[in-house]
Amino acid sequence: MIPAGFRKAVTFSYDDGNQQDIRLIELFNQYQVKGTFNLNSGLDDSQEWLYRDMPVRRLNLPEFTTLYQGHEIAVHGSQHRNMTELSPAELHDEIISDRDRLAGLFGNVPVGMAYPYGAYSPEVIRALRRAGIRYARTVISSYDFAPQTDLMAFRPTCHHDDEQLFALAEAFLHTESDQMQIFFLWGHSYEFDGNHNWDRLEKFLNLIAGKPDIFYGTNAEILL
Ligand SMILES: [Zn+2]
Repeated sequence: MIPAGFRKAVTFSYDDGNQQDIRLIELFNQYQVKGTFNLNSGLDDSQEWLYRDMPVRRLNLPEFTTLYQGHEIAVHGSQHRNMTELSPAELHDEIISDRDRLAGLFGNVPVGMAYPYGAYSPEVIRALRRAGIRYARTVISSYDFAPQTDLMAFRPTCHHDDEQLFALAEAFLHTESDQMQIFFLWGHSYEFDGNHNWDRLEKFLNLIAGKPDIFYGTNAEILL
């Protein structure tokens, strides 16, 4: 819940638990902002894939349980499978085993998630609700700051590489609304390496962090 007295909040949502999370969290901590990390606890650093010709690997999570301290851990599917293509038993396992393994590693039972590949269906939402998941993030930009009622198909404000990012940040800073205003940014930390644009994140943080009238919280703190 957003503490009383705030009308604006900022939160971050980053997926896949890859090795660039180390640098991302360093920046988040330096700027005193909070994020939610959507992790695949059934995968480790043994698999490598390419993003813009750059090799990317996940973290071996049992070695990094303190890295994410102060931030939120959320479900992203045990194996990062497309949840709309699974049998009921596979879907159950993909959600429950991720939730339970993450709870064991990080000490809190996750209440949020982000859809792998942005894919969801009514069946997936039902299975998530049964697993105690209370909000789930899509990959569809809202380009907006208004609170949303459908938390199981939550739309982030935008991706960090969106060309409207800085225009949206300026609009957010200058908006005067009676309604709560939320800036919700998402992405993958390896994209900053692949696109050589960590400076983009720093520019965003310099604009938006450290404001006394903005609450900086995890996705759960802001949405629930
Ligand atoms: Zn993902």
